[in-house]
Amino acid sequence: MTLPGTLTRILEEDYEISINKIEPVSGGSINHAAKLRSGKNRFFIKWNDSAPEDMFEKEAAGLTILRNADTGLVIPQVIAHRKPEKSTPGFLMMEYIEPQRGDGTASKNLGIELARLHNHKSERFGLDHDNYIGSLRQSNTFHRSWISFFIQERIEPQLKMALDSGRLGGKSRKHWEKLAVQLNDIFPVTRPSLLHGDLWGGNYFFNNEHQPVLIDPAVYYGHPEMELSFTTLFGGFSEQFYDVYAFETSLQPGFTNRVDIYNLYPLLVHVNLFGGHYVSQVESILNRF
Ligand code: ADP
Repeated sequence: MTLPGTLTRILEEDYEISINKIEPVSGGSINHAAKLRSGKNRFFIKWNDSAPEDMFEKEAAGLTILRNADTGLVIPQVIAHRKPEKSTPGFLMMEYIEPQRGDGTASKNLGIELARLHNHKSERFGLDHDNYIGSLRQSNTFHRSWISFFIQERIEPQLKMALDSGRLGGKSRKHWEKLAVQLNDIFPVTRPSLLHGDLWGGNYFFNNEHQPVLIDPAVYYGHPEMELSFTTLFGGFSEQFYDVYAFETSLQPGFTNRVDIYNLYPLLVHVNLFGGHYVSQVESILNRF
């Protein structure tokens, strides 16, 4: 595997990092990725020629917010990032952390530390800047109400994109409008919590001390149940994780009945990124209303 020559040059000239070894890293859904060795140091780098201009900048900002929150979650330290330019791909380089298989202790640590992250509260839902979920823009305009944030900043932009592209039909909007007016009776009231924002099984692993490592965030202050719902969408989280999380937080009764409604957001994002069977998943949730 090789790095684009322009990247190698930037690392050498601007960061005085000369690369001895490059190994491919798989598992990413959007970018090229590699593990770099430079003397005794190891780095993780991902790069992309066609990503939105500020995508890596926003990811770096999200990692820094999570790192600055006082939890036992391990967040890789950002070393460098650049926007794409004429002949240079955009890139994000960070500390490399060797992924390890988790055991029961590791899963419990993830539950405890995610609860601790969600304990970071704010007065408003949103964030002081927009960022990305996958390669799609995620609007974080502040709202005092979770319901108006969920409707206006989460569902409406993704639903509009899916309707405009023809991936979803007009019926879906009608069902959504029926659901939207019921949300007051569905979502429990909560204070805004700091969320990773894209917490599926591929965006965490463990280090060799059984500590959870979180990567690839789409950070904002939101409803903690939104994050917990997302973890159930593609699996990859153990029973111990859920037990410990529920013990550490005041998860309100009836959560399982609300999961599909929160998950309309990541599912709509997947409709817009990939189409396919995600379309029928969204339709079958909306058709209940
Ligand atoms: P993408 O943005 O393309 O989805 P990810 O950020 O998810 O890429 O990274 C792809 C894979 O690289 C992850 O699944 C993980 O296994 C690995 N990875 C990501 N960050 C690190 C890191 N700091 N150290 C070691 N491995 C990492």
